[in-house]
Amino acid sequence: MTQRLHDQAPSRFGEFGLSPEPPAVHAKVLRDELVAAAEWAARYLSELPQGPVSRPLPVRVRSRLRAGQLRQRGRELGGVLDFVREEIAPYPTGNGHPAFFAWVNSPPAPAGIVADLLACAINATCGMGENALMDLERGTVRMLADLAGLPDGAGGVLTSGGSMANLLALATARTWFLARRGSADGPAFDHDHARLTLYYSAQAHMSVAKAAACIGLPAHRLRPVATDPHDRLDPAALRAAVTADLDAGLLPFCAVTTLGTTATGAVDPLEPVTELCRSVGMWHHADGAWGGLGAGVPALAPHYVGVGGVDSLTVDPHKTLSVPVGCGALLVPDPEHLHTAFAHQASYLTAGEPDALPWLSHATIELTRPGTRALGLWATLHHLGRDGVTGLIEHYLAFADGLRERITAEPRLQLLAGGPLPVACFRITDPDGGDPDGLHTRVARRVQDNGRAYLATVAVHGRTVLRAALCNYRTTPDDLDLLIHEVLHAADAEHSAPGG
Ligand SMILES: *Cc1c(COP(=O)(O)O)cnc(C)c1O
Repeated sequence: MTQRLHDQAPSRFGEFGLSPEPPAVHAKVLRDELVAAAEWAARYLSELPQGPVSRPLPVRVRSRLRAGQLRQRGRELGGVLDFVREEIAPYPTGNGHPAFFAWVNSPPAPAGIVADLLACAINATCGMGENALMDLERGTVRMLADLAGLPDGAGGVLTSGGSMANLLALATARTWFLARRGSADGPAFDHDHARLTLYYSAQAHMSVAKAAACIGLPAHRLRPVATDPHDRLDPAALRAAVTADLDAGLLPFCAVTTLGTTATGAVDPLEPVTELCRSVGMWHHADGAWGGLGAGVPALAPHYVGVGGVDSLTVDPHKTLSVPVGCGALLVPDPEHLHTAFAHQASYLTAGEPDALPWLSHATIELTRPGTRALGLWATLHHLGRDGVTGLIEHYLAFADGLRERITAEPRLQLLAGGPLPVACFRITDPDGGDPDGLHTRVARRVQDNGRAYLATVAVHGRTVLRAALCNYRTTPDDLDLLIHEVLHAADAEHSAPGG
């Protein structure tokens, strides 16, 4: 081996091939660095709760990181860990910390951390050919489909996250719709494509509209449909919008429901939407990036009746399941639809046996795909088990109840309606200034800056409110008390601040 490398690159490997040049290293150097990195990561994770949730990034560090200057000569491998320890790790988003409540950002599951390292070492590309990780991806996708309540035979692909899964879903829906009309190509395509119309609730995640833009739908073909008083898509409003567009000669091709709206955690009704889609020939995509795995949880199950009838479902294991980012998935009851949309041939890529399964690259837009998603997801599910998945979601529901009780018990806070997913939206009841929205924004910022807890704001029915999501398995009841304390403390500071 040394001889061969030496022959190929004599100038880089020295006279005797004894001192490997980057990117190669001696086996012992690699081992020592991996051990040091593992020890550091274990200590970092265990000490995380004692430190601040986040820290301001000093200007000098920020400038250095952004400057993007590469030295002429390479450095020691050991410098990587030093750099992470000093310049990266102290300034995270904060989502590893138990007092982080913003957005839906989980801490990483330990099983996933171990698996990501191992998957990087194996470095299989999960798009083409045959390898064990690609089959593991097929298997983990089946586990997800089963947990989500999709029928036997469902499949899908892992993605970088929910946004990518939504993009794949809309592209698949479009191909399915046009193919059925015989206008997937040719002159009829131009005529039909310009009339495609997409429906989703006004509470849908912005990634849906973004995905629509990516597949070439203009904004005036998007229909954000009204919601009911519980922030769920109103099926009657959907039907009215679709009917009006059909009458106008447009082509309604897809309706998107949301399982867990970002603001208040609402779950859209599924069965009436599927029924409408079937009757007019539309695709029903459900965006369950946050709440897609709720069907198996008894307390949530009534909201998920009919989930098995959707045409595609986004789930995001890097949210509720704490798989390290980025791991999302698009699940489909009939995997053939993905192959119709994404299987493209090329002379340099030929599958093996005629009866072999389609490559995963034939079910998505990526060719060279990481194995970290499949192994990180498998390891996390392996550690949790089926009961553990249910238990984890139930744990978050119980913590959301605990937080809501604390808010309700505090006269200076007002709980807003929300759920069924584990989130609490609330307001400060005694804003004495004339700008309650501004006050809530400043209070959230102050909480973030103080560094002991972290939450964000969201707009609910036109008002800015505080929002705390429960998706962190490290959060304790003390962290809930701390959050309330930090919010009240920040509100006090705002009231006594000049102009507050
Ligand atoms: C988070 C989220 C997304 C986007 O998922 P990413 O993994 O952040 O790309 C889409 N839809 C919903 C409902 C979400 O909660």
